Amino acid sequence: MTYWAASKADSGARVDAEAGMATYFASETAITASLEAMRVHGGYASEFNIERYYRDAPLMSIGEGTNDIMRTVIAKALVSGSVPVG
Ligand SMILES: Cc1cc2nc3c(=O)[nH]c(=O)nc-3n(C[C@H](O)[C@H](O)[C@H](O)COP(=O)(O)OP(=O)(O)OC[C@H]3O[C@@H](n4cnc5c(N)ncnc54)[C@H](O)[C@@H]3O)c2cc1C
Repeated sequence: MTYWAASKADSGARVDAEAGMATYFASETAITASLEAMRVHGGYASEFNIERYYRDAPLMSIGEGTNDIMRTVIAKALVSGSVPVG
């Protein structure tokens, strides 16, 4: 998804929705994965970098445009047809 957005950006096109899709998917996955890692490792999470990932991941869904805004940008692009569905 990231390479798809980057490749389109390299061609000079606007990639608001494509970049939004990549950052939205990656940041939500980071939140889910770091939470699962905390659950799996429990008290041992502090011995690895898991606690740090768990703290850092939510920022990825807020900074440089929240994921709520990303969803709005993506939805507008899909409805307008500027990004093909499927
Ligand atoms: C730890 C941390 C570090 C940060 N560091 C930086 C930094 O280094 N540089 C920088 O520039 N900024 C930084 N920010 C600021 C961050 O980019 C903003 O917090 C973010 O863009 C949201 O803006 P806001 O706080 O004004 O929230 P608002 O725009 O007031 O939004 C509040 C809530 O409403 C939602 N919302 C707003 N409008 C809509 C809409 N139209 N549709 C649906 N939902 C909507 C938002 O998603 C959010 O959940 C940081 C924030 C945090 C928490």
